[in-house]
Amino acid sequence: MTIIESVAEMQRFAREARTAGKTIALVPTMGYLHEGHASLMREGRKRGDVLVASIFVNPTQFGPSEDLDAYPRDLARDTAVASVAGVDVIFAPKAGDMYPTGFQTYVNAEELTLPLCGASRPGHFRGVTTVVTKLFNIVMPHVALFGKKDFQQLAVIRRMVADLNMDIEIIGMPIVREDDGLAMSSRNAYLQPEERQNALCLYRALVTARGLFNGGERSVKILSERVVRLIGEVPAASIDYAEFRDMGTLEAVETADEGTLLALAVRIGKTRLIDNCILGEEN
Ligand code: AMP
Repeated sequence: MTIIESVAEMQRFAREARTAGKTIALVPTMGYLHEGHASLMREGRKRGDVLVASIFVNPTQFGPSEDLDAYPRDLARDTAVASVAGVDVIFAPKAGDMYPTGFQTYVNAEELTLPLCGASRPGHFRGVTTVVTKLFNIVMPHVALFGKKDFQQLAVIRRMVADLNMDIEIIGMPIVREDDGLAMSSRNAYLQPEERQNALCLYRALVTARGLFNGGERSVKILSERVVRLIGEVPAASIDYAEFRDMGTLEAVETADEGTLLALAVRIGKTRLIDNCILGEEN
């Protein structure tokens, strides 16, 4: 496995791979890798001749009062995880190489970025679509893999790829969870032991809503009340949003259906966690 830090060198590598007739798979990450990332990498291994994982804590997707500086980083451990998962190249650029002085061009998807995380994190998705576009231009992948854990992000990237005619196949991968149901996340590292227990309220809410839905409940008002009440039982939890939305358009729905997205963002102490499920689907 090779580690490439320079943008120019990564582009050279990608150009040569393509010239040699090889397909390139890309897994973009912010590092502090866990089994969720590894699952994307293992799938990427099957889908490309060359597997690149990018590790870049992207400053433009963090708001001024967010956790950019505190975001956990451990390149040595990430290298080991990526290597076991079959990665050929880790692309780990420096922020100054990605955003040199004078940088001023951004990619912005519109409607899909307005609700949910877009509403509570202004500018977040503009940072995501911009960095993913840059990564696509640098790594030149044929296929790129993203997790459904960040459901809105996946929807936004699919939209961007379609709207801007990017010739890249986007693969959405299932949410990987701890044994007790907590969705794996680099931010779980922030949780103190008691908070780690409290964080289970997200999964409990998803399971409860899915159970009610499977039992025939279709009223979003009733489902929402149950979700809000359940999370409210944990005093340390504060809901950023708990919403039932159309999984394609992300528009709010009043009646739940197969394919309705239940998306949660909940603060446990200072840590903001997100999770989701699609009603009618196992996951
Ligand atoms: P991040 O490093 O948090 O930006 O995540 C990088 C990629 O891994 C994104 O496409 C995420 O959706 C995906 N990912 C993160 N956590 C999980 C998880 N628990 N299960 C599946 N994919 C995940």
